[in-house]
Amino acid sequence: MYKAGDLRVEEREDPKIIEPTDAIVKLTATCICGSDLWAYRGIEPADHQVMGHEYVGVVEQVGSEVKNIKVGDFVVGSFVISDNTCEICRSGYQSGCVHREFVAQTIGTQAEKARIPYADGTLVPTPSQPAPELIPSLLAASDVLGTGWYAADAAGVGPGKTVAVIGDGAVGLMAVLAAEQLGAQRIIAMSRHPERQELARFYGATDIVAERGDAGVARIKELTGGLGAHSVIEAVGTQQSTMQAIRATRPGGYMGFVGVNYDVTIRGIDLFFAGIHTEGGPAPVRRFLPKLIQLVWDRKIDPGKVFDLVLPLDKVAEGYKAMDERRAIKVLLTL
Ligand SMILES: [Zn+2]
Repeated sequence: MYKAGDLRVEEREDPKIIEPTDAIVKLTATCICGSDLWAYRGIEPADHQVMGHEYVGVVEQVGSEVKNIKVGDFVVGSFVISDNTCEICRSGYQSGCVHREFVAQTIGTQAEKARIPYADGTLVPTPSQPAPELIPSLLAASDVLGTGWYAADAAGVGPGKTVAVIGDGAVGLMAVLAAEQLGAQRIIAMSRHPERQELARFYGATDIVAERGDAGVARIKELTGGLGAHSVIEAVGTQQSTMQAIRATRPGGYMGFVGVNYDVTIRGIDLFFAGIHTEGGPAPVRRFLPKLIQLVWDRKIDPGKVFDLVLPLDKVAEGYKAMDERRAIKVLLTL
């Protein structure tokens, strides 16, 4: 991205092994994330910035210290580089690894190849080469599915719980899928777009709420006997959606927040009197990857349906435009 809104596809030098813990991955597919739009819209700075952080592909080379990943493996990687051995990683928070690096900032996987540092800690191989129809779902695990799953986990979703999901983008839809898999009794999806409502129902939403802000909170209260939801997932990141999430959570309930929330201000007193648990931030996708890959592999979930536009990599600019204008939920890029 040369600057906001200006994307170009150009030839770059092939990545090389630099550290002995690196792997070079030849990408099979990549995609555009809702968070890539922050730079596209000029909210995050972009000056000749490499783009993309979701990826699946085949390992082409490994450094001398890589032990678990082999040349020829098909791998799914997290959008945060992690060693998976430090104390933070071992506690399940690989997105806060002492060696963390954001793929989006320094590597950029809207590309044919990528150098992945800490390959053993970041990449997870699939049981064998995947059938082509599984590739979109495996790619979804790299971020949106992993992030939606983390949001559901952070929101304390479990059997018997009522869950409200704020946000009908790919992450919100994946949070609905996760809530269903984790045994939620009732899943309220907040959406005003008919095609996204339909996908939310496909993934397990039991109720759809089109209202937003105060009216959205009132509607959730109405559906929960005036109490609010046990588990609320914030997957947008605006002031309105954040306050809506806090206020829709019942006292003692849990809010998981994964929308990138630039410029959101929460007054201490609003959080104080809400009396809720909160957890969020960049998802430790690596924690969930083995389980998510297995669910996809066993065809128990179909997260790949969030990709509603497929373009070749050299049409990437068209993909950003479609997502920016909300004509596409999520764009898969073929190589
Ligand atoms: Zn670590």
